[in-house]
Amino acid sequence: MERRIRQLLSSLNVPWKYPEHAGRLSAIRQLLELEPVPGLRFEIGKAATREQLGRVHTSSYLSHIFDLRGKNAWLDVDTTAVSTGSIDAAEVAAGTAIAAVEAVIQGRSESAFALVRPPGHHAEPARARGFCLFNNVAVAAAHAQAELGCRRVMIVDWDAHHGNGTQDIFYADPDVLFFDIHRASPFYPGTGQLEEIGVGLGEGTTVNVPMPAGAGDQAYLKAFNEILVPAADWFQPDLILVSAGFDPHPFDLALNVSFEGFAAMTGILQEVARRHCKGQLVFVLEGGYHLISLSRGVRTVLEALAGGTLQEPSITGLAEVEAAAAFHRQAFVSDDPD
Ligand SMILES: [Zn+2]
Repeated sequence: MERRIRQLLSSLNVPWKYPEHAGRLSAIRQLLELEPVPGLRFEIGKAATREQLGRVHTSSYLSHIFDLRGKNAWLDVDTTAVSTGSIDAAEVAAGTAIAAVEAVIQGRSESAFALVRPPGHHAEPARARGFCLFNNVAVAAAHAQAELGCRRVMIVDWDAHHGNGTQDIFYADPDVLFFDIHRASPFYPGTGQLEEIGVGLGEGTTVNVPMPAGAGDQAYLKAFNEILVPAADWFQPDLILVSAGFDPHPFDLALNVSFEGFAAMTGILQEVARRHCKGQLVFVLEGGYHLISLSRGVRTVLEALAGGTLQEPSITGLAEVEAAAAFHRQAFVSDDPD
């Protein structure tokens, strides 16, 4: 679809801008400098090794991607392109997701947020898709299992788009519970139907909740409370990872989750993590392309993680209607009810 939009725009002579760019992280950094979150501490990331990437990607795929280092190329019809710094950035994105998990497992912090790009959840074992080269959250989960003593890892994906790559990687794995709430097909990438529940030993450890366009806080929180929480209590994870995209915010035009909604979802995950795994909760950035909702969304989650008071999500306009109803209440009351 993006390609059709590009063609359309080129015929209109409007420059098309690749939506996944370094300005996304600068916007987040700027907001966090402008409005610091009390209790937040920064650590530096690092590049993932080939061995770490090789736990979830095939060796031939990695060779193909590393051959593109320093080049410009199109990889996929779904607008996955690389420029001269992309491979280095993707290595650091995956390595930083690992570093965030290490910070939590080694006890330097109860929770962490890997602020990385390019995103990862569309990347499959042998295929780049949807801006994603390496599946950052999957690399982090596999590392936690292989090196850090975590047997069961739960991955929660609330990005607006289904995490097809993450699902693919762990589809037959009973030790990774993948919960994904997303806008339903035919929205990109088209996967994530209710019936996709895993296969073989992994049957039952993939949970998809497809949502209609415009779904918002009430629906998301109901899904968290009534599906995610019981699933997590059954699975008893040793670590919870979150593929956190901020494109469910209305500014990205697909869904209707508010900042208070993101904070409330974070609060639920924090409770679940404290109940099962000493609060060990690691966020990894996925999508979110409107710079205001992206940066504000990240800050809201960080504030919730750092123990800030959560504002209850409300239905927009409800308080105003109640006030207006009270204001007008007497206007249409007849003096003589008989
Ligand atoms: Zn997305």
